[in-house]
Amino acid sequence: MKEASLALTAFILMELVASLAHRLIFHRFGYGIHESHHLPRAGIFEKNDFYPLISACITMAVIALGIWVRPLQFLIPVGFGMTAYGVAYFFIHDLAVHQRAGWLKMNPSWFKWHYQAHMLHHRFSGAPYGFVFPVVPKRLKKYLPGGNENPSKNE
Ligand SMILES: [Zn+2]
Ligand SMILES: [Zn+2]
Repeated sequence: MKEASLALTAFILMELVASLAHRLIFHRFGYGIHESHHLPRAGIFEKNDFYPLISACITMAVIALGIWVRPLQFLIPVGFGMTAYGVAYFFIHDLAVHQRAGWLKMNPSWFKWHYQAHMLHHRFSGAPYGFVFPVVPKRLKKYLPGGNENPSKNE
């Protein structure tokens, strides 16, 4: 049970880590790589795919450390939580929101919360920065579809 709660805690904390990285790294000094995600994609991949790749490598290193170093065994369930977050991120952000797999048709309404929140991020290149539990700031709620402001006014 201790392992399950470690994995769950890691999963939830990863949203914090991912949104902070998205805000403070991807949209600042790391924007040279992330920019590709905010432009139309030319092929199957984009330069920004480098970031999930890096986090997969970090996750593998965490699990390896848990396996090799006995006192750090708790890192194994932590790494599993991180992996589960990566899978959720990929499923929600890449497959559901951005529809990157043409063969996998998903109804955007299944992920309406994520879709609307993330489209807001793409529109203003600002908040919300989260992916799995995105929190739309109050001041931006009016720009969500169905809000009381016409979004095209500000474009
Ligand atoms: Zn996106
Ligand atoms: Zn972004």
